[in-house]
Amino acid sequence: MKKPPILWLNVSLFTITFLVAAVGTPLYLFYQGFSWGLFTAFAALAIYAGISITAGYHRLWSHRAWDGHWSVRLFFALGGALALQNSILHWASDHREHHKHVDHKDNDPYSISRGFWFAHIGWMLREYHEHRYNDYSNVKDLQKDKIVMWQHKYYLPLMLFMNVGVPLLIGLALGQVWGALLIAGFLRLVIGHHTTFFINSLAHVWGKQTFTDRNSARDNGWIALLTYGEGYHNFHHIFSGDYRNGIRWYHFDPSKWLIRAFSWVGLAKNLKKANPYQIEKARLEMKIKRVVAKKPWLAERLHEEYEVILAEMQAYYQTQKQWLTRRKQIQRQLRA
Ligand SMILES: [Zn+2]
Ligand SMILES: [Zn+2]
Repeated sequence: MKKPPILWLNVSLFTITFLVAAVGTPLYLFYQGFSWGLFTAFAALAIYAGISITAGYHRLWSHRAWDGHWSVRLFFALGGALALQNSILHWASDHREHHKHVDHKDNDPYSISRGFWFAHIGWMLREYHEHRYNDYSNVKDLQKDKIVMWQHKYYLPLMLFMNVGVPLLIGLALGQVWGALLIAGFLRLVIGHHTTFFINSLAHVWGKQTFTDRNSARDNGWIALLTYGEGYHNFHHIFSGDYRNGIRWYHFDPSKWLIRAFSWVGLAKNLKKANPYQIEKARLEMKIKRVVAKKPWLAERLHEEYEVILAEMQAYYQTQKQWLTRRKQIQRQLRA
């Protein structure tokens, strides 16, 4: 089959930014030396762009897993322009297709079934999805968000301001204009791109299938370290409406922590969580599946035990729920 035409704009963008960062950074460090000012600017902008994608583009807009105050949405809309991954509207539209058709060769826009390279970056280098490029019918809800539509309309000037203007201003303040453009501009952008792209590539091949094996998504703490918590991708693909990806307190999920912190100061609300019984049920089913695959003679006994544990678990979570409701009622009465 003939391959679709190359998207030269994307190819040049990824190639040029990569080459400038890869060649420029060692040369700059060799001739100018290390600078704490530049390093701080690099880290701050990298975190800002990255978390705008994970907590904003992904969990807030694509999945509606929580609601953000307009100031938070504006903050993430600008951070998303800095990350240079297209507008919220476009990103969320692609991402909803990814969840709906995960692993399908043609309908999942960054399907891992077409290989690691395709899922990582290849899908953006040719006109693979031209037929639905301007089809935003799956993000009608987001079209009601004024900030989303404003960012979509002015994406080009916003992305130029955030990626060139902001590093330039930082450079003028530090007296290191070229250094800031290189380190806080190019290098930060390239590292930000590839770490986020790992969620589509690496997080679909490397790690554990803790909750489901019906799709390729994996849970991996190492990937979570690079992606602001998005490495718990197996959990995410089965419970995508949950504002968390790492559900244990020790799971590295700064996006979750940020959303929770926003909720403490009234900037986030309606933080959605999956039903804990359903989560543990999925985990147990996968555990049994793994044991049975290795020791098939245990199948019958395990399935009997499974029914018993399930019934006990259901009773446990039911009681816990009743207890929480009761506690809330009492607290309300005490306040009244
Ligand atoms: Zn995925
Ligand atoms: Zn998702």
